[in-house]
Amino acid sequence: MKVGVVGAGISGLALVHSLAEQDVDVAAFEAREAPGGVVQSRRVDGRVVELGPQRLRLTPGLESIVDDLGLRDRLAFGDDDQPIYVYHDGELRVAPLSVREAVTTDLLGPLGKLRMLLEPLTGPARPDETVDDFLVRKLGTQAARRYLGPLYSGLYGTDPRDMLVEYSLGRVLEKAGVDRSVLLWVVRTLWEGGESPPICTFEDGLGELTDGLYEAHADAISLETPVESIREREGGYELETAEGTERVDEVVLTAPAPTCADLLAPIDADLEATLRRFNYNPIGMVFLESAFDGTGIGTLIPPGSDAQISGLTWNSSFLDRDGLFTCYVDPLSYPALTEASEAELGRVGAAEFERITGAPATPIHVHRWEPGMPAYDRSWRAIDDLELPDGIHLCSNFVGRPGIPGRLRNAARLADELAEGSSSGA
Ligand SMILES: Cc1cc2nc3c(=O)[nH]c(=O)nc-3n(C[C@H](O)[C@H](O)[C@H](O)COP(=O)(O)OP(=O)(O)OC[C@H]3O[C@@H](n4cnc5c(N)ncnc54)[C@H](O)[C@@H]3O)c2cc1C
Repeated sequence: MKVGVVGAGISGLALVHSLAEQDVDVAAFEAREAPGGVVQSRRVDGRVVELGPQRLRLTPGLESIVDDLGLRDRLAFGDDDQPIYVYHDGELRVAPLSVREAVTTDLLGPLGKLRMLLEPLTGPARPDETVDDFLVRKLGTQAARRYLGPLYSGLYGTDPRDMLVEYSLGRVLEKAGVDRSVLLWVVRTLWEGGESPPICTFEDGLGELTDGLYEAHADAISLETPVESIREREGGYELETAEGTERVDEVVLTAPAPTCADLLAPIDADLEATLRRFNYNPIGMVFLESAFDGTGIGTLIPPGSDAQISGLTWNSSFLDRDGLFTCYVDPLSYPALTEASEAELGRVGAAEFERITGAPATPIHVHRWEPGMPAYDRSWRAIDDLELPDGIHLCSNFVGRPGIPGRLRNAARLADELAEGSSSGA
């Protein structure tokens, strides 16, 4: 059996790695001249700049790949104990993510804090409930709107009022084993001593991981070779590229939904229409250099604030990346995002950074992602109508968890299924 993989971002690379471990024949094609997809690390003025993800969690799945690739001594750990701040009423306030922070923060008033304690008395998510309605009902308006809603939805650049719990937060809570009360789950986890895996990156950025995966499997991955079409052929498929035709038994697509729609249109028009329903949000990334010496992981800027950015990562502080800060611009915070020039985005990022932290900053690089992040908004109802023909699989972030540990898990699970099918002759 041969598996054809479209895309060599982290999902495609992890899939190739897991398939190769199980001796399954695989051919992967990547449109760009470099592997990694949205994982892209660069040096700008001597600093490691991450155009996409800034860091990840060293989950067991990641740890085993790191060891396979001999990258353990390249790991760099972030300081998990630093606070996350919320920009509220013109000031930076600590987001209460621990019991100590919940007691001491001035982000919530006494009534807002007390209201959170009523959460165990509230019921589970209701059909068609939005993330905003759900969090307000369970934890009160202050906690929901000042930090919990934005903390979750800000990852995707979507307004919590446009996200349905069933297709977004509900799935995360279910996976984490939260049945009815989030608060009781947190207390239980703390009691049992459960800890999140540490935050990490690599000395030269996350690109070390994707480059390492590519180098380990370079003979199976063709760079600068976009798949132009997929055709059905006698019990299998043909992947058409400028270099020729690859005959495969199974096809895995790891690209964003619009590209999957283009490639699958000739095979299944209904599937194409379903794939076109998934919305994405563009994201602008402005990389700033500043002498600001605050200690923290970053700043969350809830929708509705007058700031024109949606958040900041303080790479300088928690990742020890000297003087570097990453500023996020999404269409909620800056509706002109897609038309703005890079110079304009740089100016907006630096001005808002100074307003929020009080320290001047200089833009050193700007990058815009389009299509950007899966929005996980109401358009995710489309997932109920997603029916794939035999031999076609999706291992893209819009059908699973977008975080890199989630991508690694999805890839490993699919590789197991394909390897099992191959050994049973299915
Ligand atoms: C700005 C940003 C910040 C993020 N921050 C974090 C973070 O801090 N931590 C975290 O864990 N996650 C983060 N994420 C999420 C995570 O990085 C992504 O979900 C994940 O990297 C996506 O990987 P992927 O391989 O599924 O998709 P992609 O990286 O999109 O890869 C798809 C690949 O397919 C290729 N391709 C497209 N069309 C074709 C074609 N026709 N033929 C061949 N190849 C094709 C593309 O060139 C691309 O390389 C972030 C994402 C973004 C965008």
